[in-house]
Amino acid sequence: MKSIPLSLLFFLLICSNWGFSQVNSEFDGSRAFSHIEKQVLFGPRSITHPNSKNLTHDYIVNNLKRYTDKVTSQEFTAYGLIGRNIWATFPGEKSPNIRIMIGAHWDTRPQSELDENKANLKTPTSGANDGGSGVAVLLEVARALTFDRSPTTVDLVFFDLEDLGNIDDLPFAIGASEFVKKNSFYQPDKGVIVDMVCDKNLLIPKELYSKRHSRQLLEEIWSIGKKLNVDIFSDKDGTFIQDDHLPFIRSGLNVVNLIHYPFPDYWHTTRDTIDKCDKESLSQIGNVILTLIYKQDKT
Ligand SMILES: [Zn+2]
Repeated sequence: MKSIPLSLLFFLLICSNWGFSQVNSEFDGSRAFSHIEKQVLFGPRSITHPNSKNLTHDYIVNNLKRYTDKVTSQEFTAYGLIGRNIWATFPGEKSPNIRIMIGAHWDTRPQSELDENKANLKTPTSGANDGGSGVAVLLEVARALTFDRSPTTVDLVFFDLEDLGNIDDLPFAIGASEFVKKNSFYQPDKGVIVDMVCDKNLLIPKELYSKRHSRQLLEEIWSIGKKLNVDIFSDKDGTFIQDDHLPFIRSGLNVVNLIHYPFPDYWHTTRDTIDKCDKESLSQIGNVILTLIYKQDKT
């Protein structure tokens, strides 16, 4: 070490701090994991279980209120069903008019139609990964944002009634569609939906609606993944997936869907349980999201 001149050392220090590699706040995968545990303990967050849905709704709202006073719960009725979207805002420090949305669905599937045990077909999933993991990432992002304010405004949106698709002819992403309808004034510059992001072998390919309509943002996220050296992204194309990003894309907004695909074999079964989740996967996706948020003043 002695042989390195001070000026060179200083130069190296500056380089190591340059650009993407700088994550202002650290995402804690263990904390995110505990948010999944909590949701699973409450029970299914499905229309068949209003009690555990209420508990989870209040858990999300109360957690958010610890970090921002800008939290609203928007009730809506669609297809004869009542749902609630939860929206929290963290105003930007430098450019508050630039907005980035991070979204996830908080409801879970009321049935397990892909279960190998036919007796379980009408049993709701536990939704540890499908539902629980996205919520967990958003709640931990909320905590991180209070340590270091974001340069631009961040909106965390928790969508209800995503996972009723193909049940009684219902579509996917009912809550997100209602959110877009109700809040047409809200046009984030960028948006990211996270869904099923806790698996031990998490692998996220390039979802095709995202690639077709929000390609630049997709590439921005993949390049952050490379800089952070994460192994959760695949350079391969995924498929077209119906999820909460679609209502936004249809409105011409720049939104990307980050989702595990091919879906794990426990998808829409009673085996979507907490033992499938991994803190390291949660840390990786969380740190990519935080880096995206904090670098927005540089782009
Ligand atoms: Zn699902």
